[in-house]
Amino acid sequence: MSTSTQERPARERATWVCDNCHSRTAGLRKRCADCGTSRY
Ligand SMILES: [Zn+2]
Repeated sequence: MSTSTQERPARERATWVCDNCHSRTAGLRKRCADCGTSRY
């Protein structure tokens, strides 16, 4: 049994999906470049 339970993100963690237009935006800006909606 492996004690390592660290999850490796397959996708780039630096990107997030906009909840408004479902567009991929760089997490560095934390703001959608398509509709201009903030993540939170
Ligand atoms: Zn958006």
